[in-house]
Amino acid sequence: MERAIVIGAGFGGLSLALRLQAAGFQTTVLEALDQPGGRAYQKEIDGYRFDMGPTVITVPHFIEELFALRRGQPALDEPDFPESILGPDVRVREGNSGGEATQKYCEIVPILPFYRIYFDDGTWFDYDGDPESTRRQIEAINPKDLEGYERFHKDAKSIFERGFLQLGYTCFTDVWSMLKVVPDLLKLDAVRSLFSFTSRYFESDKLRQVFSFESLLVGGNPLRVPAIYAMIHFVEKTWGIHYVMGGTGALVDGFARKLDELGGTLRCSTPVAKINIDDGRGGRASRFGPKRVTGVTLEDGSVLDAELVCSNADYGHTYMKLIEPSLRWWNSDFKVKSMRWSMSLMVIYFGFRKTETPLDLKHHNIILGPRYEALLTEIFDKKVLPDDFSQYLHVPTLTDPTMAPEGHHAAYTLIPVPHNGSGIDWEIQGPKLKAAVYEMLDEQGYIPGLRERLTVEHVITPDYFQGTLRSHLGNAFGVEPRLTQSAYFRPHNRSEDIKGLYMVGASAQPGAGTPSVMMSAKMTARVIAQDYEVRTDGALLSLEYQPSESTDSSPLSPAARVAST
Ligand SMILES: Cc1cc2nc3c(=O)[nH]c(=O)nc-3n(C[C@H](O)[C@H](O)[C@H](O)COP(=O)(O)OP(=O)(O)OC[C@H]3O[C@@H](n4cnc5c(N)ncnc54)[C@H](O)[C@@H]3O)c2cc1C
Repeated sequence: MERAIVIGAGFGGLSLALRLQAAGFQTTVLEALDQPGGRAYQKEIDGYRFDMGPTVITVPHFIEELFALRRGQPALDEPDFPESILGPDVRVREGNSGGEATQKYCEIVPILPFYRIYFDDGTWFDYDGDPESTRRQIEAINPKDLEGYERFHKDAKSIFERGFLQLGYTCFTDVWSMLKVVPDLLKLDAVRSLFSFTSRYFESDKLRQVFSFESLLVGGNPLRVPAIYAMIHFVEKTWGIHYVMGGTGALVDGFARKLDELGGTLRCSTPVAKINIDDGRGGRASRFGPKRVTGVTLEDGSVLDAELVCSNADYGHTYMKLIEPSLRWWNSDFKVKSMRWSMSLMVIYFGFRKTETPLDLKHHNIILGPRYEALLTEIFDKKVLPDDFSQYLHVPTLTDPTMAPEGHHAAYTLIPVPHNGSGIDWEIQGPKLKAAVYEMLDEQGYIPGLRERLTVEHVITPDYFQGTLRSHLGNAFGVEPRLTQSAYFRPHNRSEDIKGLYMVGASAQPGAGTPSVMMSAKMTARVIAQDYEVRTDGALLSLEYQPSESTDSSPLSPAARVAST
């Protein structure tokens, strides 16, 4: 039986491990940290549980697919978007939004509104995906933008249908696969920047922000990210926003349990030091000669053999730290360093006492600062630490009181900041920014009296992403999503020149965000199924690597199928 190693137990790594194990590979996940999750690590402090990363759960159908997997049934040839999830009223507005298989592992519930977006003048917009309430709120802000919203809605829907439903699972492995879709993207106007796209429809600055900020949740600068990311708006509108009771950590635990049930192995506190490569015949490999993966060497020096290795680690870390420079030409240090990396984050996790006055906040709160475009330019391009800030404030205890001891709330607030290419000294700047954030939340009345009510806190800065999560320059979301780093120009899921090496997760195609990394896992599993001639019913036919010429990762082209629905 083929042995597969997955480096990293983030959502991307775990999802791929589940699929490979279901496809018949004997799969081992090697995770550097003491528990799985990666960016979705859940930290416990004095009875509080803090999800350190993703909190906005979208597309529960992707989760259901993974929990429904069975050994010998990788289900790679089934439609990615079956009609059952494309109907007009599929979005669950109350009750349990997890499917039958999911419910055995965790409880997923819908969140409404999706977000409350606070503007700097103290007013807000509750985005809940409901066209009527959206229209009402747009009218209150600027009645002239109502007509623009109708056009935006129609055009963003077309982008969603083409960009997500039809092309979302396409593995762009060569330039031709990319060129084929360019005419469509031009026709949809999806290559201009998201902010410029949004500005075509809305006069109001507030509405331009409401309909463009979402790309920040996957590391994309709205001023740069192509308008294809307008699809996020529609993904949320179509399938809603959800929360996993017990936190996102409960979903991670569910995936780990499922892997165990399928017979796979998860080893935590097991950092990989090197990906081992030979010339395909047991000899020494060279930069331009044939190369094949043979396994990995762990930091403790032990060697594990495998027929294929999939890295869920950061793209920069994978190539620059785990593969000898003398074996790389495609992913040279020069190439990796010249990529643009997503911004980083400072995240403050904090617990505080409840008072008799209930919190006047929602589960997900976006608190926009006084500046938008200038702030984004400073963070992404100038790489300076601005004096002002915008933040995303997450208060899970409004939905799930078990996340904090009785009588207390658990929360986190996330502030986009430049990555470590900035030279900012976080030992000095971190505490100052933290104090400014607490002061703002307290004095502007978001959490009155916060500083007196605080009970616990934990802070991470770009140094955490760089040191603990091993991300190049401490990026929070991998390679920055921009036109010149999307699709074919984004790191490939199958190595260009090393047989048996694959990349999965935020750094690879299609990109960051929990639904995307689950898609990345399915795309990579399909590529592996082609390369190793795995029958889609799971029976392994061949041990031989059979590189495929196909650019569509799906054996039965579900994209084409969706196109016809
Ligand atoms: C604070 C924050 C909030 C976010 N909020 C949301 C949200 O609400 N919704 C959403 O959809 N997305 C959100 N995202 C984005 C989303 O969390 C990520 O894109 C996604 O979880 C990345 O998953 P991954 O599997 O690609 O990688 P990761 O989660 O980064 O996992 C990679 C794993 O590889 C391990 N690793 C690295 N090197 C080695 C090595 N040498 N040996 C062994 N293991 C190694 C790391 O320890 C890590 O566990 C958020 C991200 C952050 C940081």
